[in-house]
Amino acid sequence: MKSYQGVCLHTMVGSLAGTDSMFQKDGTVGTESHFGVGEHGEIYQWVDTKYTADANYLGSGHVISIETADYGGSFGRWNTRGDNVPYWNAKQIAAIVKIIVWACKTHDIPIRMMANSRDRGIGYHAMGVPGNELPSKYKGTRYQWSKYAGKVCPGRKRISQVPGIVKLAQTGSTTPATSSEGILGMSKYSGGKHYAGQQKLTYNKWEHVHLNSQGDVSILTCNGHPFMAQTGITVEGLKPGESIQFRYIISSYKKGTKTKITDRYPKQEFVGTSGGTYMAPTQIGGKGKGGGGRSNRLRLLVWTNSRTAKITSIHPKSMKG
Ligand SMILES: [Zn+2]
Repeated sequence: MKSYQGVCLHTMVGSLAGTDSMFQKDGTVGTESHFGVGEHGEIYQWVDTKYTADANYLGSGHVISIETADYGGSFGRWNTRGDNVPYWNAKQIAAIVKIIVWACKTHDIPIRMMANSRDRGIGYHAMGVPGNELPSKYKGTRYQWSKYAGKVCPGRKRISQVPGIVKLAQTGSTTPATSSEGILGMSKYSGGKHYAGQQKLTYNKWEHVHLNSQGDVSILTCNGHPFMAQTGITVEGLKPGESIQFRYIISSYKKGTKTKITDRYPKQEFVGTSGGTYMAPTQIGGKGKGGGGRSNRLRLLVWTNSRTAKITSIHPKSMKG
């Protein structure tokens, strides 16, 4: 490497196994990135960070690259034309944070969000792509990260997760992971309860996802602490082409007063397939403050344009700093 400007996130449009065999094909002279993260959070390293990998075109001598799986398995088969890359799941986020913390510590890179491909810190591929985020005056310089114009890698959904990942890495850098409970400096892990009851969904209306037969809706009390939440959900009756959306919200709760929504996270959309559809909307964050006897609770809303969809199982998991 000529320098260590930062760490760049990519998406594979494929699985870890498929990308691995492609990268291995020509030894280290072909195409490869430094790291790869699989669907279940597996970490591969293809190239020692002393040496250049070539995922970032003219920036490859300055940027450590991480490729991430996005296709098949729990990601399903999605239309790879356009900007449809699904969100990173919680295990991938934990693995990416681990690599970032290690790389930044080892190579003295600041753990912060890059403003653009000329900045130092953590960035993503599209920042250095002509016709996307790279101004044309930087074409042909080390800040051009792709030969091809218009590349959206790692996709708008994953790009929306990058600031949260950087925040987690900042926490993790001071409290390194020592065990699965202590990962990212998040000490409180809640496996949640698996609930196999049924919740019939209302057509075209946002409503709370129920976590048990009592109708409880709060996943965790966050009060401004960093958190990571993933909710495994099985939906039946969602026909191909119909969609379902989820969004995590923060509700300010105090017994005897009106509950207010204080923050809304971005919507996450899933499309129906034949048979039951399994999805796992994931969120990292740290909004809300609590205080004044109020507590800020993370909840999950659901919306669908299906008249037949119902949730048949739900399994919330969360971690808190
Ligand atoms: Zn890329």
